[in-house]
Amino acid sequence: MARYTGAVCKLCRREHQKLFLKGDKCYSEKCPISQNRGVPGQHGARRHKLTEYGIQLREKQKAKRFYGVLEKQFEHYYEMASKKAGVTGDNLMQILETRLDNVVYRLGFAVSRAEARQLVRHGHFTVNGAKVDIPSYLVKEGDVITLKDRSRDSAKIKAVLEATESKPLPKWLDFDRANNNYVGKVTALPTIEDIDLPVEVHLIVEFYSK
Ligand code: SF4
Repeated sequence: MARYTGAVCKLCRREHQKLFLKGDKCYSEKCPISQNRGVPGQHGARRHKLTEYGIQLREKQKAKRFYGVLEKQFEHYYEMASKKAGVTGDNLMQILETRLDNVVYRLGFAVSRAEARQLVRHGHFTVNGAKVDIPSYLVKEGDVITLKDRSRDSAKIKAVLEATESKPLPKWLDFDRANNNYVGKVTALPTIEDIDLPVEVHLIVEFYSK
């Protein structure tokens, strides 16, 4: 499965904002954005005034990077979103948000979506009782995501769960941590209001509508 393997901090520097791709480092002074390090590359320091197309393109790139999705898959999601009833931009964000790797991240099993993707790939979760190791799997309302029995003893996962205990849970998810149960439930599909990412989705729709 294709994925971006370059230096992820460069992606934030390119977008001039934190995309929170590296877990703890993103909240520390080591973060290059906190250090005001600009756009990477020889000509990075030069700031050009963006055209309308450039603004739309950057917004699409930002959304892709938040969720760790490559171009082809993002286009596929846009196509899916445009075929669904309702507002295309809202549908697109809902599709991205319901990826299993994002849900695992939102539940607090991982400190970044990249880490969540790796946990899913390594087969640590079941959905409705069946093993699912596909990060792009789209959850549905009512789906139950469970940490596998053998994974409950993982010191690394336990440490992350402790560290993320106070992290606010999106209202469309429920998470039972009692007795080391670690069972998440999708109580509803997320609406655009539930998604806290700074993405101006109408610019993405304008980008693809050309
Ligand atoms: Fe982005 Fe995190 Fe790197 Fe900062 S530390 S530039 S927020 S990935």
